[in-house]
Amino acid sequence: MAGKAARIAIIGGGLGGLAAAIALKKIAGVQATVFEQSHKHDEVGAGVTIAPNGARVLDTLGLLEAMQRAGAIPDGHGAYLDAMGNVVTDAAWEDSAKHYQNIGIYRPDMIDILAQAVDPEAIRLNQRVKSVEMAGAGVRVHHENGEQEDFDAVIGADGIRSVVRKAVGQPTRFVYSGFIAYRGVIDASDLPRDWNRISQTWMGNDRHLMTYPLQQHKLYNYVACIPSDRPLKGPWSGPADIAEVQAEFARQKWDPRVHQFLAQIKETFWWGLFDTDPITNWSRGPIALLGDAAHCMVPHQGQGVNQAFEDSITLAFFLKQAESVSEIPEAFRRYTAVRMQRATILQVGSRRAGAMFDSQFQFTNTHKRDVDITSGRDFRRAAVFDYDALKVAEKALERFKRI
Ligand SMILES: Cc1cc2nc3c(=O)[nH]c(=O)nc-3n(C[C@H](O)[C@H](O)[C@H](O)COP(=O)(O)OP(=O)(O)OC[C@H]3O[C@@H](n4cnc5c(N)ncnc54)[C@H](O)[C@@H]3O)c2cc1C
Repeated sequence: MAGKAARIAIIGGGLGGLAAAIALKKIAGVQATVFEQSHKHDEVGAGVTIAPNGARVLDTLGLLEAMQRAGAIPDGHGAYLDAMGNVVTDAAWEDSAKHYQNIGIYRPDMIDILAQAVDPEAIRLNQRVKSVEMAGAGVRVHHENGEQEDFDAVIGADGIRSVVRKAVGQPTRFVYSGFIAYRGVIDASDLPRDWNRISQTWMGNDRHLMTYPLQQHKLYNYVACIPSDRPLKGPWSGPADIAEVQAEFARQKWDPRVHQFLAQIKETFWWGLFDTDPITNWSRGPIALLGDAAHCMVPHQGQGVNQAFEDSITLAFFLKQAESVSEIPEAFRRYTAVRMQRATILQVGSRRAGAMFDSQFQFTNTHKRDVDITSGRDFRRAAVFDYDALKVAEKALERFKRI
């Protein structure tokens, strides 16, 4: 960006906000200030999958090797299994060029890698933002502690409960899926020696279990989803009783390996699965949204963080083209135009994937479920994993120049 001195604030220092700070510095040469409400960078003690489309972004940002070292690349393609353990189909796990694979990584490891890649002086912890508003050509940030600061632009990476979304004129309503996920990790040494070192999803009747390796296969992540109205009565997450998870999965017949796995859980916590309905705009003037603040999705396609990574590099690319701060609103409009449709398709598709894994709605007909899941595999590889966010932005720029 020609105006390298542009003052840009990123609200939220989660996985999306930190990735945005790194991309802005590396691609656009802009040092943004990140405001994070917590006193330290924190992530839940569970795993997350970096998909090939996210890995491609991390490669451009120079972070892929560190993530691969800290995480685990599965030994081969994943598997979707029915409740009794019969393989329905294998799951896409790498891009068509076989260049980028899925990487399972422990979230605290991922946030450490991202945080270390940001200049510590650019991060202001323990700084909760109350609201943001347009002020002249720029944006005023109101902190919870009563202070206020002016910036040329603001990026809202403040998650599902985003306060920035309001300033973009978008609703802050979230939707409860009716499901909770029990999450956590299991030590690989507690599992049978012949445990498949891949991602596996057992699909039962209204519930499913997904597991995949982390930390060079020393840990296995699990996400066990069951229907529950618990989050409607109080908090959205909390510690849970191990016996509770095991009892939930004792209600149906499962592959013995499911019980074998669940029997090894030493600690677990539950998490209400919420998302937002798609919104109609991600930016207004010099304010833009990114990550869950823009497109919170249920986790069943493992794309929430990966979409935040794609957002980050696209936003940085269009900011790089801005000749001065007065062109930032146009950069944000271009970013929105390029990103919104893709993320929205994945947001809506994630609900459908959940229904599929839980054999719900049209998928109570498990034959239909199995046909859909099998036919979706190659499409997923081509449409989701092969996506090159930077190339798409470059092509879009050519079109914008012709308009
Ligand atoms: C069970 C489960 C499994 C998942 N698995 C995957 C997966 O395998 N792959 C994948 O890609 N995605 C996955 N996701 C989704 C992924 O976790 C999210 O999409 C991602 O964490 C969103 O990152 P974010 O930075 O946009 O938002 P958040 O992680 O919500 O971060 C927002 C940050 O902003 C801060 N903040 C909020 N409000 C303020 C404020 N007012 N002022 C200052 N700071 C503020 C918060 O403290 C937080 O640090 C999963 C989600 C769940 C629930």
